[in-house]
Amino acid sequence: MRLTHYFLPTLKETPAEAQIASHRLMLRAGMINQTTAGIYTWLPLGLRVMEKIEKIICEEQDRIGCHKVLMPTLQPAELWRQSGRYEDYGKEMLRFKDRHEREMLYGPTNEEVITDIIRQYVKSYRQVPQILYQIQWKFRDEVRPRFGVMRGREFLMKDGYSFDIDFESAKKTYERIFESYLRTFARMDLTAIPVRADSGAIGGDMSHEFQIVAPTGESGIYYDAAFDNLTLDQMTLENVGKLYAAADEKHDPAACPISQDKLKSARGIEIGHIFYFGTKYSEPLGAKVVGPDGQIITLEMGSYGIGVSRLVAAIIEANHDEQGIKWPESVAPFKVGLLNLKMGDKRTETIAESIYHSLNERGIEVLYDDRDERAGTKFADMDLIGLPWQLIVGTKTIEAGTVEVKNRRSGERSEVPLEQALKMVI
Ligand code: ATP
Ligand code: MG
Repeated sequence: MRLTHYFLPTLKETPAEAQIASHRLMLRAGMINQTTAGIYTWLPLGLRVMEKIEKIICEEQDRIGCHKVLMPTLQPAELWRQSGRYEDYGKEMLRFKDRHEREMLYGPTNEEVITDIIRQYVKSYRQVPQILYQIQWKFRDEVRPRFGVMRGREFLMKDGYSFDIDFESAKKTYERIFESYLRTFARMDLTAIPVRADSGAIGGDMSHEFQIVAPTGESGIYYDAAFDNLTLDQMTLENVGKLYAAADEKHDPAACPISQDKLKSARGIEIGHIFYFGTKYSEPLGAKVVGPDGQIITLEMGSYGIGVSRLVAAIIEANHDEQGIKWPESVAPFKVGLLNLKMGDKRTETIAESIYHSLNERGIEVLYDDRDERAGTKFADMDLIGLPWQLIVGTKTIEAGTVEVKNRRSGERSEVPLEQALKMVI
């Protein structure tokens, strides 16, 4: 992509309304634009990141046998009356009437709709387990929308729903999803700490919130220091389940099973939340199947959420410095930023163009800063948008037959011959 052809409205000034780094940087890097309180337009750069996140989530969901669907954002109030939630849900739910005076709502979550689908089609125990998921916009009229997309009113969520024949099978499903969440977040370079959110009663509800550590997080958490050194292959429920993690209101220092020197306390951002809740919705809505002996069995359900749009901000909270964002490669909007420091100079243009073509040919996503701007502006913008690699073409390096390569995360710079520079970023 050539920057002169792109839509990347970066800002020099720090927007006054932004209180936390991710909000500031998303506005400054031209990723989002506020349409109205808690509701945002995703601009090209921001959308590219969100789509990378979606892709990782889908790959990991599909890997464990979940199936993607797409439910509508609008739902009839009638379904929520059947589940008994319509009156309880409160002001977070946006309610309205269509032209025929039918009561409607903008879905804050989708248990009712998915249970309605399952009750229509799934009639036999042989048709379960089944896990369906979607990535769809939700609306919750939060009292205090804030921190940009971190707590929006309209936000993108991955929501999955499982249907099993009994508790044992539902528990296995829950565990499978638990592990897949750890993998999903690890692929985004995030160490997610699963914090129990239930009462702990056996056979009762099970629930975990997945938190990532960041000073601006809304929840306080205590956790085992071993979380900080987990590698992907250690992220099984067996290993991780043994490690202590608790929300601050549930942490009892006297009863804490690990010693003080192994205990860490921090602020956390909730990026995912999973629940097992049995027949809470399947019973009132009538999602029942015929069992092997002809008996009628009410399906056991769970819900599994990931804050997709919140993740974009959460990843920035975990990966930035004074100059800007430092994207992990897996979610970076482009892998390489190519800077031509002297537009109009034949030699720099020839080299920069040849790099641009080589990378495109190899399928490497590259953003080429071909604007007629000062070097300082180009450096600042490139650091701000945080692409993992920068290839810098200037008159000085060209004379030495080299190109400068900068790694945004480590800050390491080197001047190397062109071929070697390409090898480093491919
Ligand atoms: P929170 O405690 O942050 O309000 P929640 O418990 O209401 O979250 P869920 O209903 O479990 O959240 O939704 C699943 C995920 O969606 C959450 O883990 C979070 O990452 C994300 N999420 C929830 N509310 C918002 C919001 N207002 N803006 C952006 N993301 C959100
Ligand atoms: Mg909430």
